[in-house]
Amino acid sequence: MDAQYPDPLTAEERREMIGPVTLPGGLTVDEIIEAVESYDESIGFCMKCGQEHYCVEPDGRGLVCEVCGSASVYGAEEILIMVG
Ligand SMILES: [Zn+2]
Repeated sequence: MDAQYPDPLTAEERREMIGPVTLPGGLTVDEIIEAVESYDESIGFCMKCGQEHYCVEPDGRGLVCEVCGSASVYGAEEILIMVG
Protein backbone atom coordinates (compact mmCIF):
# COMPACT_ATOMS: atom_id res chain seq x y z
CA MET A 1 0.00 0.00 0.00
CA ASP A 2 1.27 3.41 -0.88
CA ALA A 3 1.89 5.29 2.35
CA GLN A 4 2.02 8.65 0.62
CA TYR A 5 -0.98 10.75 -0.18
CA PRO A 6 0.28 13.57 -2.38
CA ASP A 7 -1.41 16.85 -1.71
CA PRO A 8 -3.08 17.86 -4.98
CA LEU A 9 -2.61 21.52 -4.18
CA THR A 10 0.61 23.44 -4.37
CA ALA A 11 1.52 25.51 -1.34
CA GLU A 12 0.56 28.68 -3.22
CA GLU A 13 -2.83 27.30 -4.24
CA ARG A 14 -3.51 26.12 -0.72
CA ARG A 15 -2.70 29.52 0.73
CA GLU A 16 -4.97 31.25 -1.76
CA MET A 17 -7.83 28.86 -1.09
CA ILE A 18 -7.72 28.43 2.68
CA GLY A 19 -5.43 31.22 3.77
CA PRO A 20 -2.20 31.01 5.73
CA VAL A 21 -1.92 27.89 7.84
CA THR A 22 -1.34 27.95 11.56
CA LEU A 23 1.76 26.26 12.85
CA PRO A 24 1.16 23.44 15.32
CA GLY A 25 1.95 24.10 18.97
CA GLY A 26 5.62 24.39 19.81
CA LEU A 27 6.69 25.12 16.24
CA THR A 28 7.83 28.63 15.37
CA VAL A 29 8.50 30.40 12.08
CA ASP A 30 12.11 30.85 13.23
CA GLU A 31 12.51 27.08 13.45
CA ILE A 32 11.12 26.69 9.94
CA ILE A 33 13.52 29.33 8.59
CA GLU A 34 16.43 27.61 10.33
CA ALA A 35 15.38 24.34 8.73
CA VAL A 36 15.17 25.97 5.29
CA GLU A 37 18.67 27.36 5.72
CA SER A 38 20.16 23.98 6.62
CA TYR A 39 20.09 22.73 3.05
CA ASP A 40 21.98 19.52 3.74
CA GLU A 41 19.53 18.23 6.28
CA SER A 42 16.30 18.23 4.25
CA ILE A 43 14.14 18.97 7.25
CA GLY A 44 10.38 18.92 7.22
CA PHE A 45 7.74 19.23 9.87
CA CYS A 46 4.43 17.60 10.67
CA MET A 47 1.79 20.32 10.55
CA LYS A 48 -0.45 18.30 12.85
CA CYS A 49 1.80 17.41 15.77
CA GLY A 50 4.85 19.58 15.07
CA GLN A 51 7.27 16.66 14.88
CA GLU A 52 10.49 17.41 13.03
CA HIS A 53 11.30 15.01 10.20
CA TYR A 54 14.56 14.47 8.38
CA CYS A 55 15.07 13.47 4.76
CA VAL A 56 12.00 15.42 3.65
CA GLU A 57 12.35 17.07 0.25
CA PRO A 58 12.05 20.89 0.52
CA ASP A 59 8.93 20.69 -1.64
CA GLY A 60 7.58 17.55 0.04
CA ARG A 61 3.85 17.69 0.70
CA GLY A 62 1.38 15.56 2.62
CA LEU A 63 3.84 12.86 3.65
CA VAL A 64 2.82 10.53 6.43
CA CYS A 65 4.04 11.35 9.94
CA GLU A 66 4.99 8.16 11.75
CA VAL A 67 4.40 9.87 15.09
CA CYS A 68 0.75 10.87 14.70
CA GLY A 69 -0.15 8.94 11.55
CA SER A 70 -1.41 12.03 9.74
CA ALA A 71 -0.43 12.81 6.15
CA SER A 72 0.70 16.24 7.31
CA VAL A 73 4.45 16.31 6.84
CA TYR A 74 5.69 19.15 4.63
CA GLY A 75 9.12 20.29 3.60
CA ALA A 76 10.34 23.40 5.43
CA GLU A 77 10.21 25.55 2.29
CA GLU A 78 6.63 24.50 1.59
CA ILE A 79 5.63 25.39 5.13
CA LEU A 80 7.23 28.82 4.82
CA ILE A 81 5.11 29.47 1.74
CA MET A 82 1.98 28.15 3.45
CA VAL A 83 2.30 30.30 6.54
CA GLY A 84 2.54 33.28 4.19
ZN1 LIG B 1 2.64 14.20 13.18
